[in-house]
Amino acid sequence: MQFDVETDVVVVGGGGGGLVAALTAREAGAEVAILEKSERLGGNTALSSGSIPGAGTRFQVAAGIADGWERLAEDIHRRTRGTAPRDLVEVLARESAPLVEWLVDAVGLPLDLMADLKKVGHSVPRLHAPVGRQGQTLVTGLERAAQAAGVLISPGNPVSGLLTVPGDDGPRVVGVSVGAGDDAEGYTVGARCVILAANGFGANRALLRRYIPEIAEAPYFGHLGNAGEAIGWAADLGAHLVNMGAYQGHASIAQPHGALLSWAAVERGGLLVNREGRRFVDETLGYSGCASAVLAQPGGQGFVVYDGETHDYLAEKAEDYRDLMHFGGVMRADDAATLAVRAGLDPAALEETLADYAEAASGARPDPFGRSAFGQAPLRPPLCLVRVTAGLFHTQGGVDVDAAGRVRCANGAVIPNLYAVGGVAVGVSGAHGGAGYCSANGLLAALGLGRLAGRDAARRLS
Ligand SMILES: Cc1cc2nc3c(=O)[nH]c(=O)nc-3n(C[C@H](O)[C@H](O)[C@H](O)COP(=O)(O)OP(=O)(O)OC[C@H]3O[C@@H](n4cnc5c(N)ncnc54)[C@H](O)[C@@H]3O)c2cc1C
Repeated sequence: MQFDVETDVVVVGGGGGGLVAALTAREAGAEVAILEKSERLGGNTALSSGSIPGAGTRFQVAAGIADGWERLAEDIHRRTRGTAPRDLVEVLARESAPLVEWLVDAVGLPLDLMADLKKVGHSVPRLHAPVGRQGQTLVTGLERAAQAAGVLISPGNPVSGLLTVPGDDGPRVVGVSVGAGDDAEGYTVGARCVILAANGFGANRALLRRYIPEIAEAPYFGHLGNAGEAIGWAADLGAHLVNMGAYQGHASIAQPHGALLSWAAVERGGLLVNREGRRFVDETLGYSGCASAVLAQPGGQGFVVYDGETHDYLAEKAEDYRDLMHFGGVMRADDAATLAVRAGLDPAALEETLADYAEAASGARPDPFGRSAFGQAPLRPPLCLVRVTAGLFHTQGGVDVDAAGRVRCANGAVIPNLYAVGGVAVGVSGAHGGAGYCSANGLLAALGLGRLAGRDAARRLS
């Protein structure tokens, strides 16, 4: 087959997974090109808070936190009730600490261990994030490193499909076609390996309705480029699709402000109630696991109630929270009845809910929703409340991959020369909608698989 241009490795998508895959393959000697649909790199990675799990990093050791890959793998299996692919969980858990240390040492990213917070699904503090908690910091540093290493980066070049030739056991991928937009002709790129790093289908309502109806109508907070076409190309070649109903949602998006209320408000002892002033969910399912329950409440609304101590903590630690206060998103009162009246809830119902909750938190009786961790609850006045709704951040199911990120068919055979990372690949968030998501599974699957796929692709070229 003739191509307009040729290279060793084509990476489709210039978010975190694509940048890491490209940089890793380039470090190992391959000629690499990134083709990105949008006019700038970044995708969801740039919109994220940039938290990455690393189990057993030297930063944890310095902070006196005992951790290791086995513990991270156990945490993921517990959260997903064993429904995440075991081989992928193991290889990503093993890769997590070297990944974080490589990002700091080789890429030069300013990552800090968030040593005072365990975060949803994790049994010890192990998330590392850029100062300022901005995913854009990851993208800027990775893009700079990729450019310096000689990766060809082409924004504004949407890939429109995979090119294949027949092989002994089915089609073999030999490149991609690129539709360069309204003003330009399409062209083809020949490649010895193609790495799909185009994320999932969060921006594609039709696919959401098909695979994840429970969150399909929720507001989407991710990148609009993530329309799921790469999953479709791989499926057309026989790729096995796994856990397509998995996603990361968020159950505490302040309404109508649209700002994120940190889940620390709940983890530190807060609770969720509905318009009637009643609880409706075990809040320890986490911000992702509670999302569908919030959407199912009257008006798709919830109300996070917490106390003044947590309010002071958030006001000190979280800039978003200070903004929310500034724009009037935080209601405050000395007692439950006054707070309820301010928020338009039934005062008697909220008083009763808080009294029952205090009993469960103090261990006087079992929690009717099964909550077992209550932070600093029972709550002490003054009380605070934020009205919230839930949204979708990104999808977590996708094509089956082996431990090197190679795309697999249902019979376990790999599709020659084709890799998938990040949201294109099945992640490690299991088969239970939003409930299997451990904080930072998204970047673990994107950057971790990016390292593994980039390394394997370069190795196979030599
Ligand atoms: C508000 C928010 C906060 C988050 N915080 C965290 C966090 O702290 N930690 C964490 O682990 N996860 C977090 N996530 C999830 C995380 O952002 C994603 O899981 C991760 O960024 C996925 O990386 P990726 O490389 O797979 O995709 P992306 O970073 O989305 O990159 C995919 C790129 O592919 C491009 N693309 C798509 N189709 C094509 C095509 N046909 N041709 C060429 N290019 C294409 C897109 O334009 C996009 O730029 C958050 C998400 C959101 C929305």
